[in-house]
Amino acid sequence: MMSSSHSTNLKHQSAILPPAWLGILGGGQLGRMFVHEAQSLGYKVCVLDPDPLSPGGAVAEKHLCANYDDAAALQEMAALCATISTEFENVPAKTLDYFEEQGIFVAPRGACVSIAQDRIVEKQFLEQCQRLSGIGPAPHAVIRSESDLAQLPDHLFPGILKTARLGYDGKGQVTIYQRNDLAKAWHDLGSVACVLEKRMPLAFEVSALVVRGHDGQCVAYPISENVHRNGILHTSTVPSPSLLASLVPKIIHASQLIAEEMGYVGVLCVEYFVLDDQTVIANEIAPRPHNSGHYTMDACVTSQFEQQVRAMARLPLGDVRLLTNVSMLNILGDAWFVSGTMQEPAWNRVLDHPSAKLHLYGKASPKPGRKMGHINCLGHTIEEAKQACAEVATHLGIDP
Ligand code: ADP
Ligand code: MG
Repeated sequence: MMSSSHSTNLKHQSAILPPAWLGILGGGQLGRMFVHEAQSLGYKVCVLDPDPLSPGGAVAEKHLCANYDDAAALQEMAALCATISTEFENVPAKTLDYFEEQGIFVAPRGACVSIAQDRIVEKQFLEQCQRLSGIGPAPHAVIRSESDLAQLPDHLFPGILKTARLGYDGKGQVTIYQRNDLAKAWHDLGSVACVLEKRMPLAFEVSALVVRGHDGQCVAYPISENVHRNGILHTSTVPSPSLLASLVPKIIHASQLIAEEMGYVGVLCVEYFVLDDQTVIANEIAPRPHNSGHYTMDACVTSQFEQQVRAMARLPLGDVRLLTNVSMLNILGDAWFVSGTMQEPAWNRVLDHPSAKLHLYGKASPKPGRKMGHINCLGHTIEEAKQACAEVATHLGIDP
């Protein structure tokens, strides 16, 4: 598997301390929350994002408004930053490699990010890890050309056809009920490389958030139970109410193993399916802080964004302790359109709630399906947290 050491001619070998500049590729909501945490620790942040309205760019000390392969922007960023990370997996791996060649500490490395960029490579990697952890991906087959379509085994139907690259939030996916529907669906996806994954009988979904430091130190947050709607995360509840206690150490072990085998540095999320018979399936890897980890902002000693700062700055990792039960509600742009015309949601109803922590991302235009914010609902019990989550959802016209 992969080498676990960064190259030796790094700009700094010791911890990178404030007020150094940190660089982040991408300035969406994840980039913005990263910037906030980095600044509160006293760092300065440079965001690279081609969007002039980038939510992360708007709050950073410096926003380089350029493409991810813009030579001049990359040069400027390399001159300024002591360490660089990414908020999304579709950044060109070459860009991360460039920074590393400049002697900058890059976390995670391009080689780790490129595994998560391609579902085919990702599933191969998860299969390798399965030999050591016992938890592997769903049954699947690779489709690269027309001739592969006829070779697919019957047991993969009904299945989900997923593009190998650039899929997110359920985009680039089609459910295939019978073999006859496959050719058209594949052509509709642009005849690009895909995987056909058997549709699994999910009892529920969970994710594990692990953080690995430059020195191999590895910590794991409590596991989150996730409900998706239309392929997009809807709620995350922690601790997971449905997960058998005996599965917790197995899932944590499998996730830490993935980070170790990659030689990963930073925050890593692994999504899992738990089936009706309690079999656990590894679904996908996100090489970055994750939507299902937003609960850490209000419910843990250290948030996932502070951990990303700590890992990339070669600091010791923070305490992952859970301080309270929590249920996170995602707010999509749909909440602006509940009455038919576009209208600001009733934030006063949410802000009236003493233990509902509202986080809005400052995005200019709400659109259905666009992630606009989230609310961490805290509770003395899981039931209380879930109840608060259902109440604020109802206030916003979101079906709880
Ligand atoms: P994305 O990159 O869009 O998050 P995922 O592969 O995680 O793509 O799929 C999104 C959601 O679709 C999952 O969280 C799950 O609810 C559902 N899903 C995906 N693959 C399967 C499958 N093989 N069987 C059942 N449900 C699935
Ligand atoms: Mg997913």
